[in-house]
Amino acid sequence: MEAAVTLKINFAGKEILTPGQASYYSTQESMVKALKSLGLCWAVAAVCVLVPILHFVLTPAAFLAGPVAAVLVYTKTQKLPKSLSGSVVCSHCNTSTSFLFENAKPPLYEMCKTCRTGYQVIWPPESTAKV
Ligand SMILES: [Zn+2]
Repeated sequence: MEAAVTLKINFAGKEILTPGQASYYSTQESMVKALKSLGLCWAVAAVCVLVPILHFVLTPAAFLAGPVAAVLVYTKTQKLPKSLSGSVVCSHCNTSTSFLFENAKPPLYEMCKTCRTGYQVIWPPESTAKV
């Protein structure tokens, strides 16, 4: 799922708006990630069954944590970009510099490729237009 976004870029306090391109996880991809975290929790629960004493605490805890983790992972991946790209004119040296984030979690930091001034790409975007 691709979307044209308007991103806010923060250059040491100076905020600039720039167009970018974002792609999101599909419902199916989010579901797979959610099920993986569920599986991981339940695997921990299963392993702890074999450990004396621990299985009284960890097994039920991990068993209950599974669905909670799955829901959290699902909602999180629905909000985060799978990839985010664009370019911005550096406020320091005035050259255009591009950025690309893959599977990134905010805060998103990048550097100007010419003068190495650091900047932050603010997520979520200012506005989104689904393509
Ligand atoms: Zn620069």
